[in-house]
Amino acid sequence: MVVGLLGGGQLARMLAQAAHPLGIKTVFLDPAVDACAQVAADHICAAFDDTDALDQFAARVDVISYEFENVPFESVQRVAKKKPVFPPADAVAVAQDRLVEKTMFGELGIATAEFRAVDNLSSLANAAKEIGLPAVLKTRRMGYDGKGQAIIWETSELEESWSSIGEVPAILEAFVPFDRELSIIAVRSQSSRVEFYPASENTHADGILRLSLSRVADPCQGRAEEYVGRLLNRFGYVGVIALELFQLGDDLIANEFAPRVHNSGHWTIEGAEISQFENHMRAICGLPLGSTQAVGKAAMVNFIGKIPTGGTVMSQPNVFLHDYGKVAKPGRKVGHATVQVQTDGDFVNTVDDILALAK
Ligand code: AMP
Repeated sequence: MVVGLLGGGQLARMLAQAAHPLGIKTVFLDPAVDACAQVAADHICAAFDDTDALDQFAARVDVISYEFENVPFESVQRVAKKKPVFPPADAVAVAQDRLVEKTMFGELGIATAEFRAVDNLSSLANAAKEIGLPAVLKTRRMGYDGKGQAIIWETSELEESWSSIGEVPAILEAFVPFDRELSIIAVRSQSSRVEFYPASENTHADGILRLSLSRVADPCQGRAEEYVGRLLNRFGYVGVIALELFQLGDDLIANEFAPRVHNSGHWTIEGAEISQFENHMRAICGLPLGSTQAVGKAAMVNFIGKIPTGGTVMSQPNVFLHDYGKVAKPGRKVGHATVQVQTDGDFVNTVDDILALAK
């Protein structure tokens, strides 16, 4: 079996690494000469809209998936004519546009922050009047890791925030003064079996994920699973899906979903019986799903911009380092560490130590 992935960053790398023991080969298409999935998979170095390269890619593989949702939709459609594509192209189309995505959440009875479409400065002013401030302005397309976003605190900031996101189609959504951020990751097989991982409790800074904690038996687990179940049914989904949520008092509010493996699920490599990466590969290849049960307790700390040096991470007990082999740049995710323990012990101290190293 050969899996084709659109995109060759760290998610593709971890997917390909998870596929090796199963005898699954991976080929990926990515325009970056130094794409970090190279260590684990064959690289077709081409633009995502290079039709010849896409045809060549499709010819080499049995099934196609992606590691990020912002590949041109026409490219997904083109390869889907040649080979099965999972998750379904429909899920990618929805995830690419925040307005379509939030509208769909509403149709499925999944709570969201109040939102309005924004196409120019006057519709932004109207939206701000209707929703109230503070509010968050987000580009409809191509936003990730806090990019293409601006928090608006006062009416005087409307013009500046509109120009800061590039004056492109956007949504304005109510600012949610959340108690916690959570995500829920699920996997659905080709025979419609669904498994859920324990929720992750997430901490972001500057719009980028810093810390995820596995939360076995979280009080929000049941409701989060119900939300994800609706999404999976809506798309006839196959593969791993992630839903990001805000908890505010008794409310559970959906922020966005990702039709792929997710950063907040990296702890599942050491902290679950079968990782999100292996389960995604199993699902798209038509293999039986593996257990999503947690093994003890886990935390994942992202390394942004640089990896701590000198063996400082590796010398800690119960800590597992993942260096993506990427060129270090400010704001770039270059690695992560997972703290995984069977019993509590020094868990919190170790997580604090790794967070301090990550600064
Ligand atoms: P997003 O790109 O939508 O995932 O947003 C990145 C991060 O910005 C989220 O994980 C939150 O920490 C924060 N954020 C996004 N939308 C809102 C909102 N409506 N209210 C409060 N914080 C938000």
